[in-house]
Amino acid sequence: MECVNCEREIADEARFCQYCGARQPTVQEEFTRAGHEVAEATVAVVQRIVESAKPVARNVARSAKPVAERVTKAGARAAEKAAKKTEPIVTEAARATKRAARKTARITTKAARRVKQAAKGK
Ligand SMILES: [Zn+2]
Repeated sequence: MECVNCEREIADEARFCQYCGARQPTVQEEFTRAGHEVAEATVAVVQRIVESAKPVARNVARSAKPVAERVTKAGARAAEKAAKKTEPIVTEAARATKRAARKTARITTKAARRVKQAAKGK
């Protein structure tokens, strides 16, 4: 293995470097350190994800607001347009209904007169 300090090749089981005298970490210490490194790396990755998600969330919020306003305005405009388009139809329908009612009344009156005349003629 390599000495943790001078990086020279020393015996795998050596507890101290034979060149610089640096104490070598035990297997357990290396596991612990590796565990810490993994934990730290995981935290760093999560932090980076959170950090990169923040502006995205802000952008979404920022761009969603005018979209919502636009949708509302568009909805109001569409409703107005629909009302304007329906208005003449409603007016026309009312007029047609009136015409039809008048016609029906005339026909009914005529029919009633005919019935009366027919009754007289009997
Ligand atoms: Zn060494």
